[in-house]
Amino acid sequence: MKCIIAGGGIGGMALALSLHDAGLREVEIHESAPSVNELGVGINVLPHAVRELTELDLLDALAESGIPTAELAYYSKRGQRIWSEPRGLAAGYRWPQFSIHRGALLGILHRAVMQRLGAERVHIGHRLTGFGQENGSVLAHFADESRDEGDILVACDGIHSVVRRAFHPGEGPPHWNGITMWRGVTEGRPFLGGRTMIMAGHFGRRMVVYPISRRHEDEGRALINWVAEFRNAPGQPMPRQDWEHAVRVEEAIEPFASFVFEFLDVPALIRGARAVYQYPMVDRDPLPSWNFGRVTLLGDAAHPMFPVGSNGASQAIIDARVLARELALQPSIEAAVSAYDAARRPPTSAIVWANRQVGPERCMDIVEERAPAGFATLDEVISRQELEEISRAYKRTAGFDPEVLNRRPSLSVR
Ligand SMILES: Cc1cc2nc3c(=O)[nH]c(=O)nc-3n(C[C@H](O)[C@H](O)[C@H](O)COP(=O)(O)OP(=O)(O)OC[C@H]3O[C@@H](n4cnc5c(N)ncnc54)[C@H](O)[C@@H]3O)c2cc1C
Repeated sequence: MKCIIAGGGIGGMALALSLHDAGLREVEIHESAPSVNELGVGINVLPHAVRELTELDLLDALAESGIPTAELAYYSKRGQRIWSEPRGLAAGYRWPQFSIHRGALLGILHRAVMQRLGAERVHIGHRLTGFGQENGSVLAHFADESRDEGDILVACDGIHSVVRRAFHPGEGPPHWNGITMWRGVTEGRPFLGGRTMIMAGHFGRRMVVYPISRRHEDEGRALINWVAEFRNAPGQPMPRQDWEHAVRVEEAIEPFASFVFEFLDVPALIRGARAVYQYPMVDRDPLPSWNFGRVTLLGDAAHPMFPVGSNGASQAIIDARVLARELALQPSIEAAVSAYDAARRPPTSAIVWANRQVGPERCMDIVEERAPAGFATLDEVISRQELEEISRAYKRTAGFDPEVLNRRPSLSVR
């Protein structure tokens, strides 16, 4: 069986490795960029996805590069602690959570693809422009007029997927919620023990900050990833959807000028970044089906979601593992695509909707609504029980409840 993968991002590379692991060795990856660039800033890989990467023998590489996140803490815009919880191994998972540079994660996957499948399987500068299905095969067309014929085409081509648009021509541009994100990485001193991810503020004016580099940690320093999210005034145009769109640092600092906390000086953090990138917070409505015969969607092509709850890359990795497993075990490609759709579309659709409701970070909004001027005792604003329920509910929705994950059988075919 020959699998054509359109898009060599995290989803496409994870799929190639998963297929190989499942014994399906005929795989071709077509990536539109002129090289597999290690772009982006920080990203989180949650324990359910780290489990899959561990089963693909990539745990050591992740541990060499990323930070095994030990704690997640939410603060108000005044730096008052609202909630904290252990994460990864500290939370009782059998697998860690990693905060890592997106480029480093992509590099780990890409190098493994080259070693295991061969460099000749990755076709760079190959932008998919169209495809057709007939007589039990799929023909993919590329911008340079080349073609590739296979048994299945998997669209891992991100939020602007050409394949998704072919099946849903009326869908239009992604849905923007009015929030601009500024992103960057800054070298600095470790904060809160060096393995904590924090969020401060509330939806519409919120900072997300976490360290991402093991090498810096080993040197007693921290490479700190940050995302500053701010709701634009009504009527403002949507920022460009270009992950590499760099802007002036002052733009990002202004809404967060007062975020100077005992443990972290946010304006100084932003000012120290090598570059500041701007991107809109966008997603798309879930689709009624990803089941298009010998063609299907994966990762952001299938379920682009707001970056809430650290799920974008993790869900793409899980999609890859489930699809590879179904392709190895089902009697036909159509049956495999159908089983993959049934297994992955409902839970990822639920995450898209949950992330529109601000996911697990809802507790920060509740505190802002009830105590905008700060609080003397947190209990008077929100109960421990309410906080615990918000955290538990999102873990269940996103499939990383520790007990469920620890007990679930492996997705490996071996
Ligand atoms: C350059 C870049 C930087 C990013 N930076 C961050 C970040 O800092 N933080 C964060 O949370 N998320 C970031 N993301 C998004 C994040 O990687 C995804 O949400 C998540 O990992 C899901 O991965 P994916 O493989 O489904 O999609 P993506 O990561 O978007 O990968 C899609 C891939 O398909 C390729 N492609 C697109 N169209 C075609 C085509 N027609 N033919 C062939 N190939 C095509 C793209 O070049 C890309 O390599 C970034 C994405 C990109 C592309």
